[in-house]
Amino acid sequence: MKKILIYCDTKPEDLSLVGAVELMVDEEVSLTAIGYKEHCPSGNSVYDEILLIDDQKIMAYDTMNLCDLITEVHQKNNYDIILFPSTQLGRILAPRVAIALHVGLVADVTDLHLNHGIIEMIRPAYSGKLLAHIEALGTGPLMMSVRPGVFQPKAVQLKSTNIRELHGYQPKPSQIILLQTRLKPSTEDIRDSKILISGGGGVLEHFDHLEELATLLNAQVSASRRVVDSGLVSRRIQVGQSGKTVSPKLYIALGISGSVQHIEGLKNVETIIAVNTNKNAPICSLATLVVEGDAVDFIDKLSTKIKKIV
Ligand SMILES: Cc1cc2nc3c(=O)[nH]c(=O)nc-3n(C[C@H](O)[C@H](O)[C@H](O)COP(=O)(O)OP(=O)(O)OC[C@H]3O[C@@H](n4cnc5c(N)ncnc54)[C@H](O)[C@@H]3O)c2cc1C
Repeated sequence: MKKILIYCDTKPEDLSLVGAVELMVDEEVSLTAIGYKEHCPSGNSVYDEILLIDDQKIMAYDTMNLCDLITEVHQKNNYDIILFPSTQLGRILAPRVAIALHVGLVADVTDLHLNHGIIEMIRPAYSGKLLAHIEALGTGPLMMSVRPGVFQPKAVQLKSTNIRELHGYQPKPSQIILLQTRLKPSTEDIRDSKILISGGGGVLEHFDHLEELATLLNAQVSASRRVVDSGLVSRRIQVGQSGKTVSPKLYIALGISGSVQHIEGLKNVETIIAVNTNKNAPICSLATLVVEGDAVDFIDKLSTKIKKIV
């Protein structure tokens, strides 16, 4: 049986790191989650055990004490694999834990394969210009940070989870004081949306039309890098290798060519509708439905139709 430790730093219902485990382990697993209460499930869950960090003793971003605590937990339990999400904190914490345990770390994994018992981790390298395929050899726990939202477990099986609070740890005097947490005005995340209305170079001048369709479909707007680089929208809503990886049920790609870097950001999307004046654009070969024509015309016609129905 493989023993896995997962650091939780996203919403409790985000099981993407459990999905990653399914891809790299083909035997029984014992899953332990470690994290603050707000990031961990509160009852029975997919985890065998949940270890809650005492936020009165160690505050978020106190990476020195967090690192010491995780190292201590590992030394007591000897995990085979330790996973962190590639969140802001996960990216700072994972390398510190790797150094403390004297093991390597593969950061920002976006795909995983198990080849005859050897785990192959795939991650963008050299600013996303190539994809590195890395095999795990050697001893010690295998450590990686994984992009949240990329993987989903096939089947969610609830276990009777043993939830424990980690009170025993005596933190060292911290050199960090958290003064304030300020959230950006909009905290909506395109990774949470079931429907994405995504625009590219083909709708650059009419990007505002996407918002109306998104409101009608209870969806969010996202964009290709072409639109982001033009300064029209924030990088927060960019889909792709240097943006976010999304897994909506429906992805409507309006005037998006479907470059390799853009497609890299689409994982487990159920249905893609591509609207493009060029039916040979790469995105069309991936799409469930291709509409050959002007994207703005499509948005306006579809919006009018929906308004008539609703
Ligand atoms: C290191 C690196 C990282 C990158 N990371 C990303 C990333 O994360 N995300 C990303 O998106 N890109 C990324 N890129 C950029 C990527 O290579 C492409 O340049 C970009 O995706 C192109 O965006 P686009 O398809 O929207 O625009 P374009 O290439 O301009 O394509 C426009 C499309 O719209 C169609 N069109 C034109 N007019 C209309 C119309 N009126 N109606 C309908 N269709 C129309 C055209 O036929 C075409 O297919 C990256 C590049 C590099 C080098």
